[in-house]
Amino acid sequence: MPDTAQLSINLATVRQQWGLIEALEGVARAGIPAVAPWRDQIAAAGLKPAVQRFRDLGLVCSGLCRGGMFPALSPEGRATAHDDNLRALDEALAFDAACLVLVVGGLPEGSRDLADARAQVEDGIAALLEPARAAGMPLAIEPLHPMYAADRACVNTMAQALDICDRLGPGVGVACDVYHVWWDPDLPAQIARAGRERLMAFHICDWLRTTRDLLLDRGMMGDGVIDIPAIRHMVEAAGFEGFHEVEIFSAQDWWTRPPEEVLQTCIERHRTVC
Ligand code: ZN
Repeated sequence: MPDTAQLSINLATVRQQWGLIEALEGVARAGIPAVAPWRDQIAAAGLKPAVQRFRDLGLVCSGLCRGGMFPALSPEGRATAHDDNLRALDEALAFDAACLVLVVGGLPEGSRDLADARAQVEDGIAALLEPARAAGMPLAIEPLHPMYAADRACVNTMAQALDICDRLGPGVGVACDVYHVWWDPDLPAQIARAGRERLMAFHICDWLRTTRDLLLDRGMMGDGVIDIPAIRHMVEAAGFEGFHEVEIFSAQDWWTRPPEEVLQTCIERHRTVC
């Protein structure tokens, strides 16, 4: 059975109820050791006070969300994305994050050239990898379910992400989110292929059989169809020893509940069904 010492809360899970500082305090109060903050939450709280409170509470950062969004129609657009990713890198360093999570971006507005978008993603990661390596901050590509290929991420499988990692070398790996990869018949082989060095994050939630919103209707662990223990066993067999990070966007359900209840449910479900 997983232990709460392995639990992390991706702060998107309570983003409608709590600002960053409140969320950090709430997670610490619940006895959960780790968090993954989002950059918009950090911006709203202010980087310095956010990092200060995070440190005072003795929390650990299982990943910073997020860098990426590389493709753009123009060189200027790509340069703007690169600059923003450098700031994301600085924020990940300020939180001493286990990794900077990359949601790589989809098709630029008006484009139908998926191959070009994917090439831009790889170029963008390669450009970010140099400063990331120099700073010692791992980059974790998060493959997203193919339903997000247009607008969020055109890297859609573990295999595709690992092919990029193979070409770019050390310092870049994957964030394995069960919501995005549970359906993949190649998942066991790809998790084994990733190995300890390249498995940088493990995100958990559940896929509801009847999904009402493609982005904002993720389920609590145990309420859907994903065999989470099976995937956890795969990542552990590959050597992963990091946190189990709960990441739930849930506009109609968990975002409407008292945040303390959400955290207690995360603790209980993590223990019993993950
Ligand atoms: Zn995720």
